[in-house]
Amino acid sequence: MPTYTVQVRASRLARGTLDVMGKGGRIADYVGDRGGIASYGDIISAGWTEDDLRFASGRRSIVALRRGWYGSPDLPAAVRSAWAAGGPLACISALIHFGEADERHPAHDPAVLHVALTRHAKPPRTVGRDAQGFSVVWHYAELDDRRRHAVDPMVARQQLAHCRDPMLREVRNQRG
Ligand SMILES: [Zn+2]
Repeated sequence: MPTYTVQVRASRLARGTLDVMGKGGRIADYVGDRGGIASYGDIISAGWTEDDLRFASGRRSIVALRRGWYGSPDLPAAVRSAWAAGGPLACISALIHFGEADERHPAHDPAVLHVALTRHAKPPRTVGRDAQGFSVVWHYAELDDRRRHAVDPMVARQQLAHCRDPMLREVRNQRG
């Protein structure tokens, strides 16, 4: 992806000024440019060190979402929780995020997150603090790196139509 290469080079070139600006701030910009979510691997291959990461997290210019994933502190709460569980918002959770459904939708349960996982992936074994207390319904999907907060609304509607959340099945049965 050519634009990615350009971004990486720009980050490396900017390193000379990092000490003046504060390294944490620069990592925050990098994470922000990636939709507010970046992996440990992304950040390290863009030229920062583990110490830089610790420094930025310590200053809260980025936040740890779960093991190996970092986010911008201003991410919407639902997005943070979804990534703390394992990935972008999916299904009814994504539709609420986009304003296409409201919280009174019968498929929505405030204690349940619908989260997308890339095909053949396994749900992570450890979740971040923002996902604790939630149940998760997993939806397998082709994930698009340019859409980090939630799956495409069209994909989310398809997921909702086939959702295996037991509560949803009940809703469908009641409707006949
Ligand atoms: Zn679902």
